[in-house]
Amino acid sequence: MKFFIATKNPKKLKELKRILEPLGIDAVCESDLDIVLPEVEETGTTFSENAMLKAVSGMNATGLVSVADDSGLCVDALGGEPGVYSARYSGPDSNDNRNIEKLLESLKDVPYEIRTARFVTVVACVFPDGRSFTAEGVCEGHITTEKHGDNGFGYDPVFETHKGVFGELDSSVKDAISHRGKALKKFSEIIKDYI
Ligand code: IMP
Repeated sequence: MKFFIATKNPKKLKELKRILEPLGIDAVCESDLDIVLPEVEETGTTFSENAMLKAVSGMNATGLVSVADDSGLCVDALGGEPGVYSARYSGPDSNDNRNIEKLLESLKDVPYEIRTARFVTVVACVFPDGRSFTAEGVCEGHITTEKHGDNGFGYDPVFETHKGVFGELDSSVKDAISHRGKALKKFSEIIKDYI
């Protein structure tokens, strides 16, 4: 069975291929099919809506079962921000450094005890026959007051978990506790009932 992975991120693609292949699923991407996916506007207000938008767009473009994900950081003291806007938090010229600077500035008067936050990932899977499901993973933590380490990406240098700051963890340690790791684990359990 062939699944289309609707992502332009090679790391996500590799991770999903690793999970789907033992289930007998041939996971293919844009370059395997020699197509270019249309850019999907992330107009949803939840991770689930955005993941579904991307998966549906992938299915419409390929006619295949399609899988897509959406993730972000939700900070309690900011009412859940940046949330679905995590990648574009500091405006049109956003990058990881600017996003972190904006986050630390927004939290500068907030004490450690209430700098609680969570990373969330939703993986969506859509079938041409109309079936669909989502799998969510959450990783709880705190936002630090300064950057630590340069492993990972995004907000990793300021996200502290019970295992340490993501920016200082080996990828295998991060994967075992991360939102993405948990969502993919759930996904790999649920998908068995669909194939
Ligand atoms: P995406 O939907 O997985 O591409 O993630 C959207 C944004 O959320 C990224 O650009 C990052 O800013 C942030 N983000 C998601 N997952 C992580 C993570 O594991 N570490 C750090 N930042 C993340």
